[in-house]
Amino acid sequence: MSRPTPVDEDRPTRLVVLAGPTAVGKGTLSAYVRDHFPDVWLSVSATTRSPRPGETEGVHYHFVDEDEFARMERDGELIESAVVHGRNHYGTPRGPVEQALRDQRMALLEIDLQGARQVRASMPEALFVFLAPPSWDELVRRLVGRGTEDEEERTRRLETAKVELAAEDEFDVTIVNDDVRRAAEELVSLMRPQRRMPPNQQQE
Ligand code: 5GP
Repeated sequence: MSRPTPVDEDRPTRLVVLAGPTAVGKGTLSAYVRDHFPDVWLSVSATTRSPRPGETEGVHYHFVDEDEFARMERDGELIESAVVHGRNHYGTPRGPVEQALRDQRMALLEIDLQGARQVRASMPEALFVFLAPPSWDELVRRLVGRGTEDEEERTRRLETAKVELAAEDEFDVTIVNDDVRRAAEELVSLMRPQRRMPPNQQQE
């Protein structure tokens, strides 16, 4: 379900930026990639939000306080940063991404739309992938079903999601998250261009 992309077939796409509406399953998809595709390097974001049960410092996020986040921004340590859902700060540490690219690794950034726009401005050679829900109703079901946010937070996130869905056209490729394994395989295949079919044989 991906559209043809403007990627140069001879040059592997090393850096992929994955964004999409809240609750579409970006976190689940990147966790699946982390567990099943060890050759893909995942960026670990810094955030000022508190860890959820089961989240580990340095694996899911670097959990920092407001002062430390502000220092990282001030010192140019973040490629991009954003306040997500009007609440917490999130940002992508610069050094590890640059190191992964120097090591010729396939690198994946799972970030929000504002962050993706900032990366596009500074690293236009990256491939921008939009993760879409099978439908709006399914997105609402996933958001409510997750049960980790209160009513006010859910409403806030749905409002954000509507705006984010409208941004799909800004991206190079759309992947529909109908099945996590299929979506992960499609995502990783984009990082390995030599394994893709020529554009005229791609299926819509
Ligand atoms: P959560 O708090 O549910 O883990 O993530 C909330 C949102 O923050 C998700 O949409 C996620 O993609 C986004 N996010 C995670 N890390 C980053 C980051 O480093 N930068 C930006 N801009 N957004 C991020």
